[in-house]
Amino acid sequence: MKLANRVDQVKPSVTLAISAKAKAMKAEGIDVCSFSAGEPDFDTPAHIKAAAQKALDEGKTKYGPAAGEPKLREVIAHKLKRDLNLDYKSENVIVTNGGKHSLFNLMMALIEPGDEVIIPAPYWVSYPEMVTIAGGTPVIVTTDASTGYKITAEQLRQSITPKTKLFVLNSPSNPTGMVYSPGEIEALAKVIVEADILVVSDEIYEKLLYDGAKHISIGSLGTEIFSRTIISNGFAKGYSMTGWRLGYLAGPVDLIKATSNIQSHSTSNVCTFAQYGAIAALEGSQDCVEEMRQAFAKRREVMFARINSIPGLSCEKPDGAFYLFPSISETGLKSLEFCSKLLEEYQVASIPGTAFGADNNIRFSYATDMTTIEKGMDRLEKFVRLAV
Ligand code: PLP
Repeated sequence: MKLANRVDQVKPSVTLAISAKAKAMKAEGIDVCSFSAGEPDFDTPAHIKAAAQKALDEGKTKYGPAAGEPKLREVIAHKLKRDLNLDYKSENVIVTNGGKHSLFNLMMALIEPGDEVIIPAPYWVSYPEMVTIAGGTPVIVTTDASTGYKITAEQLRQSITPKTKLFVLNSPSNPTGMVYSPGEIEALAKVIVEADILVVSDEIYEKLLYDGAKHISIGSLGTEIFSRTIISNGFAKGYSMTGWRLGYLAGPVDLIKATSNIQSHSTSNVCTFAQYGAIAALEGSQDCVEEMRQAFAKRREVMFARINSIPGLSCEKPDGAFYLFPSISETGLKSLEFCSKLLEEYQVASIPGTAFGADNNIRFSYATDMTTIEKGMDRLEKFVRLAV
């Protein structure tokens, strides 16, 4: 069959093979310690589930407005003011089927052939692929441990060309867990305003911060940067709602209208009763978020200490998300080989850095219980001691 050209340009996920293998091993009854998941291991908080159940019982089971339930759009706009000091109204917000869908809608509405999109590496797997699907050109800017895997203002400035349309900022980051400091965000904002480009700020891990780190939303740093900023966020990570498929974009009204138009011809509205769960998530007590954050914080300490005690591995201490991204360069192995062997020989699942544009690293998620962390780290230690 002759498929569309755009399909040829999209790479299959390198992580799929390893995840499928880990699942197959588990299904065979093999005791796999899995650190590959990008999702919290907690159930969705009870009051959020109850709100969705109530909506279901009340018959909120019909089509709704493409851009989202008016009440949820209003609550999101309020949250953006309350948490981040951003001045948005409901009309600046669209509810989407997850953070991934937010970004996809954005690329479809904004990017066309000839446009360049600057993406710092290590990056979340889907950014370059989405740009490619939209017909644009991803411009990958490599960062390393010397800057905490963060792009500097100078690197950004040097990567901008007359074709640059958008810069993708993700803090806290997947896969590195790194958080940009207020000074770093400010310096990036200056470059963006000077060059008059747009920035999408993917803030999906905003609530998962450690050691006193603060999340600063780039758009809050003044009117000039605000008008060039689009916020992408979702409920998956902070509220443990990965399967609910709920996210949102906030930005200039013309852009939000365009994404709503695209959404109206692709997915229509997001599941109506699920949106009532999202309202409860934002309006209800935030204690559940804090409880999960504290659990992640403890696991992070244990995993970070264990990984750094293994000769051959070295890891920066990230301030956010739920990932560690150690360098494996001293082992002499490339990331896919490292992860395949670790899984096949020691039954430990991780994600090769090559999926994120960083072949000298691997990603471990600590969104799993402490017993698995202890057992998995014992196995990792044995593997690296023998491999190096
Ligand atoms: N952005 C980043 C950086 C992510 O890590 C993820 C999920 O892994 C997403 C966006 C998308 O999240 P979701 O579509 O589940 O809301």
